[in-house]
Amino acid sequence: MTERPALPNTVGLAGTMREFMEWARSEFPEATTLGCHRHLEEELLELGAEIMRRPKEPNGDEALELEAAAWRIRMENELADILALAYHVAMREDLDVVRGLRRKLEINKRRTWRRDGTREK
Ligand SMILES: [Mg+2]
Repeated sequence: MTERPALPNTVGLAGTMREFMEWARSEFPEATTLGCHRHLEEELLELGAEIMRRPKEPNGDEALELEAAAWRIRMENELADILALAYHVAMREDLDVVRGLRRKLEINKRRTWRRDGTREK
């Protein structure tokens, strides 16, 4: 059996996102929902590009360890861009992301999924 990755650390997510949104609100007063969406599309492509650049397993090689650590930072940064933009859309439209997550969790639990996370048709 393959080892499953640890669940993400979500401690402090709400407070960090609140601070991020306060910054975004003051830094981008003329942002629009559609503009945030377009930016989100770009960030998704950037994440995909990083996934494609995944470095080789270090297997004790120091240079590859450094490369892997740098890649993980770039991945975290891209994921942060995506989360922040999704929250920015929610803030602009006065939407409750947590309520949406709870609703989608219940909907998804009732659906039939393949083991790789894709939906059955
Ligand atoms: Mg980015």
